[in-house]
Amino acid sequence: MKIGCPTEIKPQEFRVGVTPNAAQEAVQHGHEVLIQSGAGIGAGFSDEDYTAAGAKILGTAKEVFEAADMIVKVKEPQAGERKMLREGQILFTYLHLAPDPDQTHDLIASGATCIAYETVTDRTGGLPLLAPMSEVAGRLAPQVGAYTLQKANGGRGVLMGGVPGVGPAKVLVIGGGVVGVHAARIAAGMGADVTVLDRSLPRLRYLDDVFGGTFSTGYSSAGLLQEHLVQADMVIGAVLIPGAAAPKLVTRAQFADMKPGAVLVDVAIDQGGCFETSKATTHADPIYEVDGIMHYCVANMPGAVARTSTIALGNATMPFMLALADKGWRKACAEDAHLLAGLNVHAGQLTYKAVGEALGIDW
Ligand code: NAD
Repeated sequence: MKIGCPTEIKPQEFRVGVTPNAAQEAVQHGHEVLIQSGAGIGAGFSDEDYTAAGAKILGTAKEVFEAADMIVKVKEPQAGERKMLREGQILFTYLHLAPDPDQTHDLIASGATCIAYETVTDRTGGLPLLAPMSEVAGRLAPQVGAYTLQKANGGRGVLMGGVPGVGPAKVLVIGGGVVGVHAARIAAGMGADVTVLDRSLPRLRYLDDVFGGTFSTGYSSAGLLQEHLVQADMVIGAVLIPGAAAPKLVTRAQFADMKPGAVLVDVAIDQGGCFETSKATTHADPIYEVDGIMHYCVANMPGAVARTSTIALGNATMPFMLALADKGWRKACAEDAHLLAGLNVHAGQLTYKAVGEALGIDW
């Protein structure tokens, strides 16, 4: 099969859909890998890295789309890219169709077979192609929060780990899922005093079993949250209620009881955010202040570490990409219900219930 990977064109997107290692594996499986010249630059991969892996470099996205049987990307195809898709072609990438009627209609009109990373499932009921980005965002959160805590950036001027004779920063993580556990581990590793709140007792049991001693856990009631909030130097918002907007767990009125210069990192901003005052920011201008409380609310945090994110995503997508290329989409999906769960659009038809319900389209 001819696997094509164009350069990402969405603003501020530096990741790339196929890494040189993934390209090499595909070539070893007998496939031809076509990479747009410069596609890997943002993630630190040169054209030479790809040619050394056995891939072929093409000059334009048009050439890649025309030649490839399967397009592998990171972000949803932009309007110009959607025009280049054709009947029978496979598109394997993040799609996020539910809030995006224009893209959904264009993909249906293209006749292509579109498999969305974000709806591929695994045996535990998890989302294996979303998890790596939650891991990245979770581990990045204390890092950006620590920077924001510095005086020059508007923060309280508190060092995460303290020093001998001076106590560490107090970090509150709300939500102990994938983002939360990775945030808590890194914050604790920096020497902070960390507490994770969650509403799921099984999850709290797991966290206590595995990480008891590294960080504390608590049941996320409004009362306990307020108790921790007033002491916190940093609060990391990491809640998710699947299919719903994030609940607003901290109000502006509560800021009056918090320490001036405390930092809120709202990782859940891509679901609307879990603090009342959160509004999405960009890497170019990530931090703002409300009533003396600093906010970091970047909606695509993994983009800040494009190389790590690209490799992490590539590790997760590669087995599925190879299955699609080796067997064709029909056999690959027939043999793997979890990959089939990723099928959102096929041959002019929407095939994903939740998107159909969200957009009022037959599925
Ligand atoms: P997850 O499902 O693994 O974890 C969410 C956790 O929140 C669950 O354990 C759940 O029990 C808990 N929860 C729900 N309601 C709660 C409440 N009221 N109080 C405390 N805990 C509560 O999800 P995840 O992968 O960790 O993702 C968390 C959020 O981060 C999502 O909104 C996701 O979209 C977002 N995210 C953002 C970025 C970014 O760049 N900003 C990147 C990756 C993920």
